[in-house]
Amino acid sequence: MRNERVLVTGGGSGIGRAVALACAHRGAKLAVVDTDAEAAADVASSAIAAGAPRAVGLWCDVSSESSVSKAYDRASEAIGVPSRIFANAGIEVNAQLHEFEPESWRRVLDVNLVGTFLTCREGLRRLVETASPGSIVCTSSPSAFVGFAGGGNSAYAASKGGVSAFVRAAALDYAPLGIRVNAVVPGATDTPMLVTGATEEERATGRDQIRIAARTQIPLGRLARAAEIAAAVVWLLSDESSYVTGSNLVCDGGLMAKSANTF
Ligand code: NAP
Repeated sequence: MRNERVLVTGGGSGIGRAVALACAHRGAKLAVVDTDAEAAADVASSAIAAGAPRAVGLWCDVSSESSVSKAYDRASEAIGVPSRIFANAGIEVNAQLHEFEPESWRRVLDVNLVGTFLTCREGLRRLVETASPGSIVCTSSPSAFVGFAGGGNSAYAASKGGVSAFVRAAALDYAPLGIRVNAVVPGATDTPMLVTGATEEERATGRDQIRIAARTQIPLGRLARAAEIAAAVVWLLSDESSYVTGSNLVCDGGLMAKSANTF
């Protein structure tokens, strides 16, 4: 990854942050994109400290066409045209379907699915223009493949099902140009998105509801660390995975392999 130009959306927190820092550690140049501009700038500074020759933090709302386009322009000025792209920004809103506000439902689709489309489109435009190969990784979820036991997950599941289907279609279109498109499917991962509502003490002692559930319900008996998901993403972004395209790489501690039923 040395001197490779990497753009990460949702790079200010959680999985995106871990991927940015793992790429920096391997000597890549980073554009860290997030709606939290301060967090993006902090991660960019940490990336430099971790070994990135260049890094920039940029405010961007991935659901806005002009915002994504501007972020790519600024990223290209700062680090060169990104050729390794992690389309990762996402949100989760849960509600029973009959009570879901259309505005919230659309927002989930706008950020998770349209945001993935816009991030990939702007990246692909620049790669096609410069006839450059590249690697794109999008963040899906087990919700794309199985029902979420917690319920109320229709918008999120629809958005991530869309992302997993999207990478297959995009992979076929761009394989002839040497641009690979894959998804990572993280299981329950210890990030601010997942561990909401727990007190500091509960988090520190592992006594919050989500960790208790993880111990009994996830075959590996725990949540993923963001760095474990990042290791898979860095592999997909790098040439180490040069024969992999159109895939959904599952990193879920065995979650999807397990049926809740005995039969
Ligand atoms: P996270 O810690 O909440 O990080 C997500 C980052 O994306 C936040 O910094 C957030 O900024 C940013 N963001 C939100 N909306 C955005 C937008 N419109 N444009 C640009 N940035 C935006 O969550 P995470 O767990 O790392 O999630 C990353 C991805 O993994 C998401 O796509 C999520 O669906 C997926 N995922 C997570 C898990 C899990 O268990 N954690 C499992 C499977 C899949 P703000 O803080 O300002 O909102």
